[in-house]
Amino acid sequence: MKKKCIYWVPELNAYPDRLRLITKLKYKLRQEIADRAMTQITIALTKGRILKETLPLLASAGIVPAEDIFSSRKLVFPTNRDNVRLIILRGSDVTTYVQFGAADIGVAGKDMLLEHQGDGYYEPLDLGIARCKLMTAVPVGSTQQHSRLRVATKYINVARQYYAEQGRQADLIKLYGAMELAPILDLAQEIVDIVDTGNTLKANGLEAREEIAEISSRLIVNKAAMKTKFAEVQAIVDALKEAVESKQ
Ligand code: AMP
Repeated sequence: MKKKCIYWVPELNAYPDRLRLITKLKYKLRQEIADRAMTQITIALTKGRILKETLPLLASAGIVPAEDIFSSRKLVFPTNRDNVRLIILRGSDVTTYVQFGAADIGVAGKDMLLEHQGDGYYEPLDLGIARCKLMTAVPVGSTQQHSRLRVATKYINVARQYYAEQGRQADLIKLYGAMELAPILDLAQEIVDIVDTGNTLKANGLEAREEIAEISSRLIVNKAAMKTKFAEVQAIVDALKEAVESKQ
């Protein structure tokens, strides 16, 4: 190994221009890698109806996926901006990715933020999309009073806080979907869920009762990224703010 070095160095030294060029290229490459690492921005988006409403806003802010997200099974998408990529997740995972800095920016429903109760991110912008309500719902016409209510929901933390504030005892049953089924099969007497048109409730013999929170999708930003990637992150927040305002 040492022997090779002894031969190699004088050889290149005989061509100082080449040595200078190689050193310069090496430096430039290192700089580029460092720059890219510094300014790479990952935006976590919530799949489904929120995604459909988020993409036009992102486009207005100058960020367009390089390929069609809806016809692909990929989870990571490059964009027209070299240093910006999109990842597509479930809403409950968007908050986790942004909290731990695996994504710098995220778009998630306020319902997910209320339920996640995490810190580690700021919530600088209400995107005003995917509007709906978080509500309690019961079988149509139900007047039953239960000393100890059984409530099925995927929003366990929100529900716990809500029923405690109401001074009502409630046993909470965690479900991951199809909450409307729980009262039909007597798993629970009441549910806490998202209501938009109310058609899903109606189709399953339920009706909305009390409103817990108004929901829309929010932009969230990892706290550390807000400091270390301030220029890039703030530029995206500002561009999205403008896109939201111009839509109103
Ligand atoms: P709807 O029948 O229009 O009241 O819609 C109810 C169902 O659609 C709910 O059970 C939710 O799963 C889903 N949903 C409606 N609006 C939203 C939204 N903005 N974000 C997430 N899910 C929603």
